[in-house]
Amino acid sequence: MEQRDYLIRATAANGTIRAFAVHSGEVINEAQRRQGLYPVASAALGRTMTVALVMGSMLKGQEHLTVQIQSDGPLKGLVVSADSVGNVRGYVRNPQLQLPLNSKGKLAVGDSLRPGTLHVIRDMGLKEPYQGSVLLQTGEVGDDFAYYFAVSEQTPSVVSVGTLVNPDGSIQASGGYVIQLLPDADTTLAEHLEQRIPHIPPVTALLDSGKSPEAILHLLLGDMDLKLHDKRSVQYYCPCSLERFRNSLITLGREELETLAHAEEELELVCHFCQETYHVARDEVVELLAELANSPTRDTEE
Ligand SMILES: [Zn+2]
Repeated sequence: MEQRDYLIRATAANGTIRAFAVHSGEVINEAQRRQGLYPVASAALGRTMTVALVMGSMLKGQEHLTVQIQSDGPLKGLVVSADSVGNVRGYVRNPQLQLPLNSKGKLAVGDSLRPGTLHVIRDMGLKEPYQGSVLLQTGEVGDDFAYYFAVSEQTPSVVSVGTLVNPDGSIQASGGYVIQLLPDADTTLAEHLEQRIPHIPPVTALLDSGKSPEAILHLLLGDMDLKLHDKRSVQYYCPCSLERFRNSLITLGREELETLAHAEEELELVCHFCQETYHVARDEVVELLAELANSPTRDTEE
């Protein structure tokens, strides 16, 4: 994939429609490479990261969001987080799942995730993060987010995302689009879009034929007063560090830390998102325990 990943934001119909289109091939390629994802996992994660990038672009400043799919399906769920400036990361709980293709000859993403629940947690820097949840509908990700937007955010939306995986597991193409009707949109616009979308090729076909995000938006909304706004690069990025892992150890609490300090010479911590490995020596765990003892607020029940 020679094309760098990016996201385009647009409006149409006199600003009463907002639309987003994304190329995310490198993003999912990076996740696939780091985590050794098998095709179903790549497809589920690629689709989810693509929507998360769109939702991230709706945020401001330091705000960020986490998408969690809790699943009793064989993929066992996934976690994705994205920020407002085009960074995304994610992992699936069963990365090497192998499933036969579904009845349409496609990767069986729905079968791998259903039954389950889609959670969106948005941290807007307020005291309580905003959280919305819906049951998975088809489990194909795009449908589930469309349902989430309609039910949880009262925003009628078309969500079409796709990740094409080659038989050898490498990523052929990934991306998608989201179209949302804003509250003052003319009621006939929904019908108009409903009639049009079935005549547009599936998003994986558009991506595979090399259509750019701009071209996809023109195909969808080109005759509806389409205005392309900003274009921003998007990338797989994990901000983890030894410092963060060390701090997260404190949240385990005194008892657990004492047990660890007794049992292990050195703790090995692996980041789920990027597979980076961190080592924390026993001495450092003992230091953390001392810190816990010295901070009265940490150890008491709230
Ligand atoms: Zn990491």
